[in-house]
Amino acid sequence: MKRDRSLALFETAGNLFPGGVNSPVRAFKAVGGKPVFMARAKGAYLWDADDNRYIDFMASWGPMILGHADPDVHAAIVESAAMGTTFGASTEREILLGEEIRRLYPSMERLRFVSSGTEATMSALRLARGFTGRNKIIKTEGAYHGHADMLLVAAGSGVATLGLPGSAGVTASSVADSLVVPFNNLAALEAMFEANKNEVACLILEAVPGNMGLVEPHPGYLEGTRTLCDKYGALLIFDEVITGFRVGLHGAQGRYGIRPDLTCLGKIVGGGLPVGAYGGRADIMAQIAPEGPVYQAGTLSGNPLAMAAGLATVKKLNLALYERLDVLGARLEAGLNTAILDSAVAARVQRLGSAFTLFFTRTKVVDFATAKQADSAKFGRFFHGMLDRGIYLPPAQLEAGFISAVHTETEIDALIAAAREVLPTLA
Ligand SMILES: *Cc1c(COP(=O)(O)O)cnc(C)c1O
Repeated sequence: MKRDRSLALFETAGNLFPGGVNSPVRAFKAVGGKPVFMARAKGAYLWDADDNRYIDFMASWGPMILGHADPDVHAAIVESAAMGTTFGASTEREILLGEEIRRLYPSMERLRFVSSGTEATMSALRLARGFTGRNKIIKTEGAYHGHADMLLVAAGSGVATLGLPGSAGVTASSVADSLVVPFNNLAALEAMFEANKNEVACLILEAVPGNMGLVEPHPGYLEGTRTLCDKYGALLIFDEVITGFRVGLHGAQGRYGIRPDLTCLGKIVGGGLPVGAYGGRADIMAQIAPEGPVYQAGTLSGNPLAMAAGLATVKKLNLALYERLDVLGARLEAGLNTAILDSAVAARVQRLGSAFTLFFTRTKVVDFATAKQADSAKFGRFFHGMLDRGIYLPPAQLEAGFISAVHTETEIDALIAAAREVLPTLA
């Protein structure tokens, strides 16, 4: 596969942007080699700057559940753009998308739109502290909640990929109140609450972590987090920026039947445009300015174009679509598992619905410690083997891949066929 133009663009971009990119994970550091520049996309397919075609299993890190350039989402964006792109005043479209979200996420009794997942989690934490009058927060190791200072400890996604303990430029004082516990471990969580009695404002969780690769909660774990938060007077925040509209129509909270106090959304809810949202219990949300003393604002919050894209996307989601995605996911999982067995490579597939990770380890990944045992060099070779066969996976092992509504058996089988060629070269 010739990628001359991608290489030239990356060279030029390197002078302009740190690492040649505007978000670190795009730079392929975790897999080696040079990143691909994309030119266009349609449905399940991406075309790079050299016009090579790839089947997309990254979905722009999650948002594109309907595939690229969905006709309805496209039409909604075009129609909205013709009417003006931002007014700095409220529009009816914010209500329409807000009501749709509340219908599907009843725990979000009231909500607020922002422009990214980072903004949603950052604001939810400020709110949790403002509401409880407590300073400390608990997060789980390997979870990524965006790049707000107090959440850049033991973080997943690009932070983990680059092997960073956290981030330079984050002061000790800004993370002094950030406590970290391993995922899937209620005893550790209870001990942390016990050691910080009446000081913990909230526990923030990726209920199904996707940023250390796809990890499922143990049965009873999420219920246990709810019970412990209640016992110690802390708010339970579900960061559903990935899982929202991904692990089911009603997100992780619907799938596992847990009612968090606050929920953060992003990615899919914006239909490919920059949107985030946070919301939850009405009494808590009443603390947000201008009703309450917790300040949070945004020039482009609830942007008309983004609301239109989000609304067009969410309206097309239904239970039948998730059932179909699960069938495709099961096919992908079964095919990859057979390919792994036949190749005798030490690897395993972890999947929930349409989200999956191929870990190069035989040990079940249940937390960050087990995720880090997976062989990242092997993943890098696997990634490039797949890329050269026209399969675009997330360029890091500790991330989740995604199937979208426009994938069919043909695209799933193409991934499996490519893996059947690549895996034996890694044994
Ligand atoms: C992507 C992500 C974020 C950050 O969202 P951005 O829109 O990139 O700021 C937060 N939480 C989780 C779980 C994510 O996957």
